[in-house]
Amino acid sequence: MFENLKTQPVDKIMQLMQMHREDPREGKIDLGVGVYKNAKGVTPVMKAVKEAERQLLETQETKAYVGLLGDPAYHDAMIDLVLKGAVARDQVAAAATPGGTGACRQAFELIRMANPNARIFTSNPTWPNHLSIIDYLGIERVTYRYFDEETRAVDFDGMMADLDGLKAGDVVLLHGCCHNPTGANLNLTEWQQVIDKLNAKGALPMIDLAYQGFGDGLNEDAAATRLVAASCPETLIAASCSKNFGVYRERTGILMGVSADKGKVAVTQENLSFLNRQNYSFPPDHGARVVTMILTDPALRKMWEDELEETRLGMLKLREQLAGELQKLSGSDQFGFVAQHRGMFSRLGLPADVVEKLRVENGIYMVGDSRINVAGLNAETVPALAKAIVDTGV
Ligand code: PLP
Repeated sequence: MFENLKTQPVDKIMQLMQMHREDPREGKIDLGVGVYKNAKGVTPVMKAVKEAERQLLETQETKAYVGLLGDPAYHDAMIDLVLKGAVARDQVAAAATPGGTGACRQAFELIRMANPNARIFTSNPTWPNHLSIIDYLGIERVTYRYFDEETRAVDFDGMMADLDGLKAGDVVLLHGCCHNPTGANLNLTEWQQVIDKLNAKGALPMIDLAYQGFGDGLNEDAAATRLVAASCPETLIAASCSKNFGVYRERTGILMGVSADKGKVAVTQENLSFLNRQNYSFPPDHGARVVTMILTDPALRKMWEDELEETRLGMLKLREQLAGELQKLSGSDQFGFVAQHRGMFSRLGLPADVVEKLRVENGIYMVGDSRINVAGLNAETVPALAKAIVDTGV
């Protein structure tokens, strides 16, 4: 049987990680992989997570199964974090999932179950895993314009023109904040126009919220998601705790199905439970429990919010430093967008041969589409990156 298996395409980011690991050069810089790193290049366990885990170790008396949807206290805490009263609690069905990826996967399956003819509209570009999972599930996919390669901002007119092609029942996948891979985001006025378009077309929004707290702040980063949930008849939200709680390997995520019609919540919840049962049965609990403890204990919550804010401000500072260095060395404002982008990533808009040159000649590793992970930089490496970029003559 195994001889029938085909080789799968290599994951470009994993390949880049491997090349970086094998590069013996001292001054190499890894701007590839999408995990947060502090100034020492470490992805730390957050203080509140350590403390919650310590408490859990002392108090947890069983590892028995929790429930197919996970712990209801986790749902409540996450619904409050993401939606903060934008809709009533009884308008939301929820299921714990293995990370944000699990939430996306379950959402796509739910869409396919509810409407086999639904098409999913994805931004150009988007997180590559969106595309591969949608394709794997055999769901029809349509691309909408998103990133303007010239201005490195959102091509809003192009996006709205492409959304004109929506049919009733289609789904539009949107990044709630900190768009990956570009770093370019809609403002709230533009979000409202997207909402109006979706409602006029009878299409459904699906929001992927993987970086709440990494852009403009915990509430600011959820503002668009809250607006959408409050304004559309139905909304799917796939949220991840991997980045903002730093619990990547614990696989902590949640899928929410919001309905203006409360009568639909029970059946949605039942289907989320069914999907969990088919795919992995009980979702992971450890990360979800730690997140719940942090969100519901005022001291732990403050500790977490303070550290998250420090992380966010650190990334903003690096953005400003990089934009400033590039401005100084190039004598132009062409890289000013780096300071405008939000989240961990920016797409610099460099041609593939320049990206390759930076890797070969300078040991600077970024994804082939010139996406950089800003958190891979520190105050010392920013000038080196800026100089290397300007030296390529772009
Ligand atoms: N969505 C986006 C846009 C992401 O960038 C990521 C992680 O890189 C995820 C979802 C899901 O992450 P995880 O499954 O690790 O929670």
